[in-house]
Amino acid sequence: MPNSNPERPVSTDTTEVVPEHPEHSDTPDQEDSNDIVHEGSCHCGKVKWVMRAPRVLQCVRCNCSICKKKSLIHYIVKREKFTLVQGGDKLKTYTFNTGVAQHRFCKKCGVQSFYIPRSNPNSISVMPNCIDSNTVDSIELSDFEGQNWDEAIKLNPPSSN
Ligand SMILES: [Zn+2]
Repeated sequence: MPNSNPERPVSTDTTEVVPEHPEHSDTPDQEDSNDIVHEGSCHCGKVKWVMRAPRVLQCVRCNCSICKKKSLIHYIVKREKFTLVQGGDKLKTYTFNTGVAQHRFCKKCGVQSFYIPRSNPNSISVMPNCIDSNTVDSIELSDFEGQNWDEAIKLNPPSSN
């Protein structure tokens, strides 16, 4: 862009907001018209978040070592559709194996209401059972064979919504 005022130096100010995950700038916001705002929290309420998603949630049930023990069901959402409202300082993180999955849970009540999944580390996996608002019509489940993770991720990779 031409600088119309040569007296004025071109700004080198870099205070503009840098996207948190520039590698995922493919669809800044496709304005999914089915999206509404869901509100969720942990059990004690210290951790609260909102996300934009449809009323019908396409979720994944995984049978890997931790998801099986925790009975976790996942709704994987793009980061720009998820906002942590409060409680970031109340979160503890548990990692194991590759360390890619960041299992976040409230250190007061122990509830994992969302986390960073290994399958989509640039997205957020939300636990739909932690949605408090009366905004979910139904949950549609598909299975992910997390017991054989390396095979399953090739055959049937869970996609981010
Ligand atoms: Zn809590």
